[in-house]
Amino acid sequence: MEFRDLAAFYERLEATSKRLEVRAILVELIRPLRPPELARVLYLSQGMLRPEYEGVELGVADSLARRAVATAVGTDEGSVGRLTKASGDLGTTTQELLATVRRLEESGPLTVAEVYRELSRIAEAKGAGSQEEKVRLLVSLLVRATPLEGKFLVRFVLGTLRVGVREMTILDALAEAFADGSKEARARIEAAFNLSSDLGLVAGVLVEQGVGGLASVGLEIGRPIRPMLAERERDLAAVLERMGGSAALEYKYDGLRVQAHIPKRGPVRLFSRRLEEISAQFPELTDALPGAVRELPAILEGECVPIDLDTGEIQPFQEVSRRRGRKHDLARVQEEVPVCLFVFDVLLAGGQPVYEQSFPERRARLERMLRPTDRVRLAVQSVVHDVPAATEFFEEAVAAGGEGIMAKSLKDGSGYRAGARGYWWIKYKREYTAGLSDSVDGVVVGAFQGRGRRAGHYGAYLLAVYDPARDRFETFCKVGSGFDDAALAAMPKRLARFETGERPPSVETGLTPDQWMRPGLVLEVRGAELTLSPIHRAALGAVRAGAGLALRFPRFTGRVRDDKGPTEATTSAELLRMYRSQVRQASPSEEAPTSPTG
Ligand code: ATP
Repeated sequence: MEFRDLAAFYERLEATSKRLEVRAILVELIRPLRPPELARVLYLSQGMLRPEYEGVELGVADSLARRAVATAVGTDEGSVGRLTKASGDLGTTTQELLATVRRLEESGPLTVAEVYRELSRIAEAKGAGSQEEKVRLLVSLLVRATPLEGKFLVRFVLGTLRVGVREMTILDALAEAFADGSKEARARIEAAFNLSSDLGLVAGVLVEQGVGGLASVGLEIGRPIRPMLAERERDLAAVLERMGGSAALEYKYDGLRVQAHIPKRGPVRLFSRRLEEISAQFPELTDALPGAVRELPAILEGECVPIDLDTGEIQPFQEVSRRRGRKHDLARVQEEVPVCLFVFDVLLAGGQPVYEQSFPERRARLERMLRPTDRVRLAVQSVVHDVPAATEFFEEAVAAGGEGIMAKSLKDGSGYRAGARGYWWIKYKREYTAGLSDSVDGVVVGAFQGRGRRAGHYGAYLLAVYDPARDRFETFCKVGSGFDDAALAAMPKRLARFETGERPPSVETGLTPDQWMRPGLVLEVRGAELTLSPIHRAALGAVRAGAGLALRFPRFTGRVRDDKGPTEATTSAELLRMYRSQVRQASPSEEAPTSPTG
């Protein structure tokens, strides 16, 4: 495939935000493709070179890209910078500049294969002299690019490709292009993706072996599986009712979810909830795991929690988050903030997949295969059959430093549901008992200038929940409190790469912030209650026509959810359930007061 054809598809994709249209364009794009080109196009269209969990990054900063563009069109970096300020996007500026110069046509048009190869070389360039090498490679692509190709190349390397194709839409398109488009085919494609986390791989198997062949896509050490997620319930009686009267209750540890891949030989690899590799952050776990697990190779899941090694007591989570991104003084932090992994599930044991077994079977297996150490322990569990026993266990969990409990179904069918949220697991937290709503993970979609002490900085952020069915981000609050000076100062840097000149098409809100942001960064917030709002758009119209849900008196908890991507934020449906359970607690009438809070 020629790259200019792909660029033309991107231009069409960029012009629409309607999911059905996006899907139709995608089907047209991928139908003629075959592996390995198909996989490359799928990765590229998501702004990646490899599946996300491999964490391949191009390492091209704005300044580097500006330099490459300036060299390619024979101008200076200063003028590229000025033009970019005016257009708001280096991609657009590149397109304009390339239109004014003669293209190098001798080597023929760029192909997708060549572009992919050169971009991979840019990503691979590391160490001394790599910056120059990256610029050189990018220039060699740009001098051959059409203006439109140039626009998308530059956006790709900067990580700002906005063609809006999300995983779920790609799964739809795959089902339509390479299977019969039925619900069943779609479900099997999604299941293979949930197990492998690699769309390119799934697409390849689908094309070559058909839907039936997808059954061969299984677990593999080093390739993370998408995590199973929990629903919420308003009280323990409701939890037990959902589970059919009996349930396994476990402490709900408040830390970082970790998926540990432990081969027979070779390095242990740890993945976050978002499937990022975090092995380097927890050397004490990668060291301890092989000795603590009997049947290798194994894939285990657990929660990584800071712990006082002398007393065995759980410490507040903030202690662990201080570790993120720290490389240099890791040894010191390791000593100051030792962590322990509380293991709660097993997916692969002795090289055999066990994720499909019922939860009681998996737990029994886990108990047999674990040799608990200081660093690796089994999540505390108790099987209960009535509310008093559940309440007692919940109180014990909270007293031990847990956030609450995680209830797990004992029924047949309680196999591990990769990538799915359901009532097989139900979380019940301490906050619920205090009448507070659960925390909400909101995506930053805009920022407001600060006043007074915060003048010159952003003072508040516009947050949204995610609606996966419509692929939209719907705002539910504007949050300014809860940020200490350090957090406030760090925000602009974290958000810089998401800034955009206009409202992203996927964002729905009645407010206009001073600065729009593409959905990227997720913040945890807590508030007094959820109310109906004429300005916010979360679950719009679900309770009352024209009204969305809003969080009153929102407050940042101090926790940036680096382990969640924008589409993993709290969903509109979850927010609606939180609203309804709160209404049920507060009064028998179905409606809470409307509040005009912004
Ligand atoms: P979610 O993972 O449901 O999207 P979240 O990341 O905001 O939400 P919580 O609402 O706090 O997290 O609850 C779910 C998380 O609880 C799990 O993803 C896991 O990290 C953690 N957890 C702690 N203890 C357990 C346990 N015993 N079993 C399963 N998960 C546990």
